[in-house]
Amino acid sequence: MEKSVLMACHGCDLLQMIPMVPEGGQARCSRCGAELYSRKRNSLERTLALIIAGLILFFLSNAFPLLELKIQGNLQETTLFQGVKALYDQDMRGLAMLVLLTCILAPFIQLSGLFYVLAPLKYNRLAPKTARVFRFIRKLQPWSMMEVFMLGILVSIVKLAKMATIIPGISLYSFAALILVLAGAVASLDPHIVWERLEGGKR
Ligand SMILES: [Zn+2]
Repeated sequence: MEKSVLMACHGCDLLQMIPMVPEGGQARCSRCGAELYSRKRNSLERTLALIIAGLILFFLSNAFPLLELKIQGNLQETTLFQGVKALYDQDMRGLAMLVLLTCILAPFIQLSGLFYVLAPLKYNRLAPKTARVFRFIRKLQPWSMMEVFMLGILVSIVKLAKMATIIPGISLYSFAALILVLAGAVASLDPHIVWERLEGGKR
């Protein structure tokens, strides 16, 4: 099935018809040579693998303590969710909601939504409402901001280090790995695959 799409060059605005690009190939502007579109190799499989790894890391991040604080022999451990609850109880409700959204809800919806859309594609099937779910995930992406939170934790570890002994928990490491895996999944995903299959499915 030979197909082509109309695309404008980012470099010189020339409108041109781009034919279907084979996997690993790229299309360049016929006038200025700027890259118009490159098709990633094994995008679907690689993204799916990263999403499954991400879901496991997400579970680890939330099931185990993020930090253990040792103050004068008193050991206290906190999970991510307990941290959110503590913020809420201390009247920092806005901040609690923000952490809940950017560090728990958004990454989870993003990972499970991508899995919902991509796993059936692997077997040439389409999940119901794929277009709507996929569009929603793409919109949610900027709200997944775990790295900001991670930076905050690291700063507070450095500041608290004089007052208490801080033992980083399993969750902190899996959280750091999750940030990388999620970024990798987003980078390896070629959204064209989803839209192309959707178009094919309607016919
Ligand atoms: Zn151009």
